[in-house]
Amino acid sequence: MKSALEAIGALATGFATTFKHLFRKPITEEYPEYRRPLPERSRAVIVLTRDPDGGERCVACYLCSAACPVSCISMQSAEREDGRRYARWFRINFARCIYCGLCEEACPTSAIQLTPYFETCERDILKLVYEKEDLLVEHSGKDKEYNFYKYAGVVTEVGDKGAHEREEKPVKIKSNLP
Ligand code: SF4
Ligand code: SF4
Repeated sequence: MKSALEAIGALATGFATTFKHLFRKPITEEYPEYRRPLPERSRAVIVLTRDPDGGERCVACYLCSAACPVSCISMQSAEREDGRRYARWFRINFARCIYCGLCEEACPTSAIQLTPYFETCERDILKLVYEKEDLLVEHSGKDKEYNFYKYAGVVTEVGDKGAHEREEKPVKIKSNLP
């Protein structure tokens, strides 16, 4: 008897919810005239951001490329005279990207970031292959303060390699060989 009453109660609750929505004012958003502001952490088009001092954040470490489940990131690394690495070229194939955000999670320098911008439809699929010049932006994105080179990587006025804030001495890779 109790279970029958519970079933009737659940049914009544369901119908009440439906009934309530029958008289609700419809919400119509006239897209594209009105574009609803999306949360800053929405995952859509990817950009390569810059340090607060304007330098390129990407150090071409390949971590984003390794983390990407659909292998849509490729690049070639290069090194400046001061030892700072950068991506000679950097490419993302947005025709394959599933906007999972794993590249952003993997990036040690906060360079690669997903943005809420999603309007990228193209008839020509090759136009969805973005090069570094398409990806590189003139701001720091969501992480406005972070500067990787304050913590690691090159000789700067702050100090030698291993002398930066929270940085350990460089590992001698040959001493790690078996
Ligand atoms: S969002 Fe996901 S699928 Fe897209 S590039 Fe990053 S890791 Fe690859
Ligand atoms: S975007 Fe980040 S993870 Fe990818 S290569 Fe550059 S520094 Fe490494």
